[in-house]
Amino acid sequence: MSTKPRTFSFEFFPPKTAESIAKLRTTRQQLAQFKPEFFSVTFGAGGTTREGTLGTVLEIRNEGYAAAPHLSCIGSTRDNIRAILNEYRSHGIRHIVALRGDLPSGMGEAGEFRYANELVAFIRAEHGDHFHIEVAAYPEFHPQARSAEDDLNNFVRKVQAGANSAMTQYFFNADAYFRFVDEVQARGVDIPIVPGIMPIANFGQLCRFSDMCGAEVPRWLRLRMQAYYDDTASIRALGLDVVTELCDRLLTGGAPGLHFYTLNQAGIVSTIWQRLGL
Ligand SMILES: Cc1cc2nc3c(=O)[nH]c(=O)nc-3n(C[C@H](O)[C@H](O)[C@H](O)COP(=O)(O)OP(=O)(O)OC[C@H]3O[C@@H](n4cnc5c(N)ncnc54)[C@H](O)[C@@H]3O)c2cc1C
Repeated sequence: MSTKPRTFSFEFFPPKTAESIAKLRTTRQQLAQFKPEFFSVTFGAGGTTREGTLGTVLEIRNEGYAAAPHLSCIGSTRDNIRAILNEYRSHGIRHIVALRGDLPSGMGEAGEFRYANELVAFIRAEHGDHFHIEVAAYPEFHPQARSAEDDLNNFVRKVQAGANSAMTQYFFNADAYFRFVDEVQARGVDIPIVPGIMPIANFGQLCRFSDMCGAEVPRWLRLRMQAYYDDTASIRALGLDVVTELCDRLLTGGAPGLHFYTLNQAGIVSTIWQRLGL
């Protein structure tokens, strides 16, 4: 097992209403007690949450915690991205999560960046080593990938463009993660690849979202959850068991940390954390 320090982080999306802003503050206070390495804040494709992302990051930093904004490039021009990077830098931000993003349906042109590796290369060209750059990884492969092989090579491209670390799409099959890591390491990648963890709260919503983003919800889990109908206590209990066991297996197998998709809720993540005894 690795003896390197592990990195734990929590992801939020920028809240929009006064009520959800206040709720996220409470969530943050609860999660901050676990002393994560950082909080990250998502960024809407095409810049739709530009102010909300930065505002949330600055608020987290004002509370004394480390925070990393995400930045997605699809639908943007170079000048656009340049301005956002300069803005991040002017606020002393040194850590970002660089993504391609997905164009919302009906939203115009792809813009001047086609893939995340181009964004990573652009950040390095404009800012040298100023930023620690995280990128996304897909142990079960990205839904638009032409083949598994192609997707692995495209991930390597992002690393070669200058990524420092990666966080994965969520998954429920630990073997997919370990195999992904082995395969990219065999291609020369040596950056940390931190598993992304999705707690199971609303199972129906999770299944719909998983179908879109290419994450597999195992058949046995779908069938067991369906059998509970609207028995939310049983759904929650099984979800907690499954995700806690997954985290345990990942950490025991040498994963360099965990990145939790909190959906701006502290409850389930806190329970998983406590059960893991972290
Ligand atoms: C940890 C994490 C955080 C995320 N946060 C956000 C967020 O804040 N905002 C948001 O909008 N989305 C976010 N996403 C979603 C992400 O933007 C989507 O999954 C998107 O579809 C792909 O982004 P990417 O950066 O992985 O793209 P890429 O690495 O560009 O890959 C996208 C697809 O293109 C292929 N590809 C990549 N490079 C090349 C190339 N050079 N030539 C040919 N094909 C190529 C890949 O195989 C893949 O199929 C996040 C995802 C993860 C895992």
